[in-house]
Amino acid sequence: MAEEIKNNNVNDEVMSNNFIHQFIDEDIAEGGAYYGQRVHTRFPPEPNGYLHIGHAKAIFVDFGTAQKYNGLCNLRMDDTNPTKEDVEYVDAIKEDIAWLGFDWEDRFYYASDYFEQMYQYAIELIEKGLAYVCELSAEQMREYRGDLQTPAQSPYRDRPVEESLDLFKRMRAGEFPDGSMTLRAKIDLASGNFNMRDPVIYRINRLKHHRTGDKWCIYPMYDFAHPIEDAIEGITHSLCTLEFEAHRPLYDWVVDNISAPSKPRQIEFARLGINNTVMSKRKLRQLVEEGYVSGWDDPRMPTICGLRRRGYTPEAIRSFTDQIGVAKVNSIVEYGFLEHCLRDDLNNTAKRAMAVLDPIKLVITNYPEDKTEEFEVENHPNYPEMGTRKVTFSNELYIESTDFMEEPIKKYQRLYPGNEVRIKSAYVVKCTGCKKDENGKVVEVYATYDPETKGGNTPDGRKVRGTIHWVNAKDCCNAEVRLYDNLFTVPDPDVGDRNFIDYINPESLVVLKDCKVEKTLADAEKQDRFQFMRQGYFCVDSKDSTKDNLVFNRAVNLKDSFKQR
Ligand code: ATP
Ligand code: MG
Repeated sequence: MAEEIKNNNVNDEVMSNNFIHQFIDEDIAEGGAYYGQRVHTRFPPEPNGYLHIGHAKAIFVDFGTAQKYNGLCNLRMDDTNPTKEDVEYVDAIKEDIAWLGFDWEDRFYYASDYFEQMYQYAIELIEKGLAYVCELSAEQMREYRGDLQTPAQSPYRDRPVEESLDLFKRMRAGEFPDGSMTLRAKIDLASGNFNMRDPVIYRINRLKHHRTGDKWCIYPMYDFAHPIEDAIEGITHSLCTLEFEAHRPLYDWVVDNISAPSKPRQIEFARLGINNTVMSKRKLRQLVEEGYVSGWDDPRMPTICGLRRRGYTPEAIRSFTDQIGVAKVNSIVEYGFLEHCLRDDLNNTAKRAMAVLDPIKLVITNYPEDKTEEFEVENHPNYPEMGTRKVTFSNELYIESTDFMEEPIKKYQRLYPGNEVRIKSAYVVKCTGCKKDENGKVVEVYATYDPETKGGNTPDGRKVRGTIHWVNAKDCCNAEVRLYDNLFTVPDPDVGDRNFIDYINPESLVVLKDCKVEKTLADAEKQDRFQFMRQGYFCVDSKDSTKDNLVFNRAVNLKDSFKQR
């Protein structure tokens, strides 16, 4: 049996090797603590908000590690804390993880389902003389905490087992007010690790729980609950972020001292931080609740649903998390690197199309007014298998207003009177002038086309420097295009005593209402992604786009400002 699940099952394709895998390799090798066991991890979000890109990293670490070892990964709502939990969040969390491409199969759990077992384990600790009911208030507890030289104190530490048992049962029965008593683990009041100085493991708190309602008025503390949840589910490796490192001795103490069905091992890795954004759910919720963004899925949010709506792909997020790696030291990654990963993916997968964001009409004066031609163009310059589409051409086109200058600046190679330009995939045209309104604003540009240059080629070999994109004014669609920039103006909006709200970028969203896109995009589906020539990568908005009012989000621009390391 053990033979089947040894190291030779490791699937290295899934995830780059990292220090966690070295630990696991040792653990499952002959003589290791988990020899013969299937690697089993879990992802334990607290359902008090939507998942963000930091969680995506944890998801890839938890689910990816399980995949790599042909193991299992559970999805568990860590809902032992009864505040601010909501079914809406639970559904969103599931949707996001599934979208990222991971499957918890039938192993979806709620930590709150284990409240009774946790209570029984607490009783077991009291009976073993390893926990006691303490009547110090929170304030007194702080006062008696001691310091590195002085041990902590509790006058209730040596209370007889029977008395603690009785009080703990009555705590559960609701006989005492909130905050009047706690259950504390009896470990070591002099420990250099303050988490071990008889930590509180239960507190009285009359809060309604989103699943258990008013059934409980005592709730277990995270450090006590989490190892029990892991042990009940048979988790072998409990992967978590670095801030839990100093809590690991307590984690081990709990599993060692209760009659747990299994003994999981906690391994910590670095939290992901990204600049120019905020990542804590509390702050993200504030942005939503105070209306600074349109919702959790606002495309400027670093939430998974926000990134999805913006146009991110699971592959881009996966590549990002894999490339930043899993380390033991926290660090901040540049937002530009996330964008770089998206661009990398979309460059290969997004169909090309033409869209004019700031249109001006170009009239081809020598092209028959009633004629329409079709050009068959490739959807991707490198992948013929992505097919072709037909774009139409007539005597009236829309071009970008910045592609014409009546008086060109130096090195300007686009349209100006007398200059020739290639209309992408169609013809070479020569600019002949423009029409202006009473304020001197250019309202129409004129050109003549050269019929010998069909497809944009010059049979005589003459040089045409500029190539511009366009759409046929006679059959294009109107579209709204939303351009995004960083949500914050500074790399670290929440460092120190900064109020991150003060650093919101007022130009993080620019809406262009009168854009023109080629007719083929009328059939685009929500979430479809395109590279608009010379503009960037765009995604059909999953909420607001309709057949009659197409809405595109700019996922990322074309230029890569990220320097390759
Ligand atoms: P937040 O402060 O954003 O609310 P959290 O840690 O409280 O984050 P949880 O729902 O408790 O959020 O997290 C679920 C899992 O995701 C935990 O294992 C946690 O360590 C991990 N996680 C959360 N944020 C990050 C991050 N920035 N980088 C890596 N892992 C993270
Ligand atoms: Mg949390």
